[in-house]
Amino acid sequence: MDITEQVKKVMQRLLSGGYEAYLVGGGVRDMIMGRAPHDYDIITSASPAGVKKIFDRVIPVGEKHGTVAVVENKMSFEVTSIKSLEQDLSRRDFTMNSLAMDINGKVYDCFGGEDDIKKKVIRTVGKPEQRFREDPLRLIRAVRFAVDLGFDLHAGTWAGIIENSHLIAKTAAERVRDELCKILLSGGPGCGVRLLQECGLLRRIIPELAGCVGFEQRNRHHDRDVFEHTLAVLDNTPATLNVRLAALLHDVAKPVTFSLDEKGEGHFYNHNIVGEQMARAILNKLRLSNDTIAAVTSLIREHTSRYARISTSGLKRLIKRVGVDNINDLFELQIADIRGSARPFDTGAADRMREEADSILSSKEPLGVKDLAISGRDLIDMGFPPGPEIGKTIKDLLELVLEKPELNTRENLINLLRKRNK
Ligand code: ATP
Ligand code: MG
Repeated sequence: MDITEQVKKVMQRLLSGGYEAYLVGGGVRDMIMGRAPHDYDIITSASPAGVKKIFDRVIPVGEKHGTVAVVENKMSFEVTSIKSLEQDLSRRDFTMNSLAMDINGKVYDCFGGEDDIKKKVIRTVGKPEQRFREDPLRLIRAVRFAVDLGFDLHAGTWAGIIENSHLIAKTAAERVRDELCKILLSGGPGCGVRLLQECGLLRRIIPELAGCVGFEQRNRHHDRDVFEHTLAVLDNTPATLNVRLAALLHDVAKPVTFSLDEKGEGHFYNHNIVGEQMARAILNKLRLSNDTIAAVTSLIREHTSRYARISTSGLKRLIKRVGVDNINDLFELQIADIRGSARPFDTGAADRMREEADSILSSKEPLGVKDLAISGRDLIDMGFPPGPEIGKTIKDLLELVLEKPELNTRENLINLLRKRNK
C-alpha cells in the first residue's frame, strides 16, 4: 500500500471516531515540495486515551506532551492531541513547517508557509527573537533546514540567529548533536558549517574550530586556511557520519601545533595525535556514542598515515590499528583531504594503499595475534615457560606471518619454534 494511503487510513479512523485529524509539519512541507517525507505526524482532537481506544497498537512515546505512536502494518505514525489547529501551528518553528493538510489534501496555512516554500525561504513563525529564546535549538535547526532543503534564511530570521547564538549553550547536547549530524550528512556539509560559523553558532558548539578560521597554513601543499580546507574536505567526503565527523575535526589541532621553519614554511607536527585527543573531548561533550568516538578518533589519528611506499606488514598493521570496519573510511578521508588541498591532486598513494588493503581483506590474510594459527596457550603447552617471553615470541611469529601469510599454519609455526629453540 502506498504510504500516503496508509496515513489516510489512520486519519480516516480518527475521523470516523468523530475527531478532527490533520497531517502536519515537515511531512506536509515535503509533500508540497514533491519530496518523500521521512515521517508522518498527525494531529487530532482525540485525547491519547481516545486514540488508544481506536487503534490496537499504540506506544506511549511522549504521552506527557500528548503524543503517542500508532503502529499500523509495521509503520509508525506520531499522533499528537491538540486543542486547536491554529494554536498547534503557531507553536511550530518555521512557516514552512507550520502547515497542516486534511484527508482531502486541503492545506491549512496560517503563517504564509506555502508562499515561503515557493520562495525557498526559512522564516520563523512569529518574532525570531522570541521564538529562538523559547527554544534555542531552533537556531541550529534553521541552518540544518537551509542546507537540507537548499533554502535561504529570511533576513530577519538570520539576524535573530546571530543575535541569539549564545543561547545554544542552554540546549541539551544530545539535541544539538542530532541537528549537527543532520547538517554534516546533508548535501552541503561545507556550506552548513560555514553558515554555523558566520552566525556565531560554531564557536559555541565547537570552539576549537573557531581557531581554524583564517589560520594561514604557509605551506606549499595548501592554498586555503585551515577552516576553508576543512570545509573543502568535508564536501569531498561521502555522506557517512564517521567520515564527515572525522573530516570536520581532522585538522582541529593545526593551530595549536603550528611551527615555522627557518625557510618560513609552516609545519604541524603531531597535529594528528593532538587532534585525536581534542576530537575525543569534543565528541564526548557532544554526546556521540562511544563507538562513533572510537572510530572517528582513530580516523583522525591515522589521517596522516599515507605513504607512497608501505610494506605489506606495515599496511596490515595500519588496518589492525584503524580496524577492518574503518579502513575504507580512512581512505575516503585521505582522498578527500588531498582533494581539499592545493593542486595538483595526487591520490596515487592512497589509491594504491586502498587497492592493496582490499586484496589483503578479501584474501582474509592474518592481521593480528588473534589470527595466528597458534596462541600463547599453545606455547605454554609446548613447554615454554610462562612469562613475558611468550608475548615476545608470539609477536615475532606475527611479524613473519604478516609478510608471509602462507606460513600461518599450526604445523609450520610449531616447526619454526622448534628450529629456533635448538
Ligand atoms: P525532517 O523530519 O525532514 O527532518 P521535520 O520538519 O519533520 O523535518 P522534525 O524534527 O521531524 O522536522 O519535526 C517535525 C515538526 O515538528 C516540524 O516540522 C515542526 O513543525 C515541529 N518542530 C520540531 N522541532 C521543533 C522545535 N524545536 N520548535 C518548534 N517546532 C518544532
Ligand atoms: Mg520529521
